[in-house]
Amino acid sequence: MSKFFFNKLFRCLSIFLLLNSSISPARSSSALAAWMLNSNGVLELRTKSNTKLKAYFKKGGKIIGDRFWIDFPGELQNPRIIEGNGPIKEIRLGKPIKGKTRLVVEFSANNNLKPLNWRLVGIDQNRWEIKLFSSPKNSFKSIGEGTVNKSYTNLKAKSERIYSRKRDFQFLKLPEIKRNNFYVVIDPGHGGPDPGAIGIGGLKESEVVLDVSKRVKKLLTEKGVKVRMTRNNEVDLDLPPRVSIANRTDADIFVSIHANASRGKRRDINGLETFYYSGWRGRLLAKKIQKQILKVSPGSPDRGVRQGRYFVIKNTRMPAVLVEIGFLTGRLDARRLEKSINRKRIAYAITKGILEYLSKTG
Ligand SMILES: [Zn+2]
Repeated sequence: MSKFFFNKLFRCLSIFLLLNSSISPARSSSALAAWMLNSNGVLELRTKSNTKLKAYFKKGGKIIGDRFWIDFPGELQNPRIIEGNGPIKEIRLGKPIKGKTRLVVEFSANNNLKPLNWRLVGIDQNRWEIKLFSSPKNSFKSIGEGTVNKSYTNLKAKSERIYSRKRDFQFLKLPEIKRNNFYVVIDPGHGGPDPGAIGIGGLKESEVVLDVSKRVKKLLTEKGVKVRMTRNNEVDLDLPPRVSIANRTDADIFVSIHANASRGKRRDINGLETFYYSGWRGRLLAKKIQKQILKVSPGSPDRGVRQGRYFVIKNTRMPAVLVEIGFLTGRLDARRLEKSINRKRIAYAITKGILEYLSKTG
């Protein structure tokens, strides 16, 4: 490849564009919280969670060295230059345009960089890393600002620990409703040969949701609600029979329980959502449940109450919802849903939402 083309190719090459889909709020302060260029050549970043980053590389010339930079949303307060060492000439933090933050790594001359092999990888909701160079031992001294390894998940885990210490028994409180007056169908998603979503560590949706559903059934029964499950064990059950159980027996409400998986099994995608098909009753039931399940899932995003055209909620004749209790492929949610105590919390939350709905509409 001629030098001309080489330069042209790298003039403004976007190496990797990472999208963090769910939220992109217009924030004013810089999304860059901390950075560290380690002696092994790995650049680590900590950002606000759900940040969109863009990374670029530009081949240098005689005066300016090769440059790698990342743009972050939000405006930097104080632009600055940090002196480098070894293969790094300097690191600059600036605001190239209003409302943005740019971190530039400028290399000293004669580096054998291979930018086409670089990958900016999201390692948590708020953490990123990219290997820029391989350095012989001790030829580069790490530079950085702030604490990069303050993991979002760790913070959440910590808050969850505090939460479980302080408010451990809060979730156990369920409202009283008129006994022997209501009839609910609970539908644990999938089953048997259809495991549904497969999550981190092989966590199976069909098993997780069956466990949660059984707990919900027990809790509702204790409150004097008649409950029927569409399946009680790991069997394959088509969608039409699930619906007909509820329609045939004239249930008051139908609650289908599922867990999510993200495309590409992205570990940074977590969150809870509840679907209804139509009607204010379905929507109210979805809202009551969504509100409660969020309370017992600290740190996991609220993906909202939404309309969905899923077969089981579209074809049932009573108010019906489909609850997604988290992403089994998400680091945060999987860690939560694999634990019995958290499934218990989710079951209490779903039960609470149902009881609140029943007492309101009863
Ligand atoms: Zn499912």
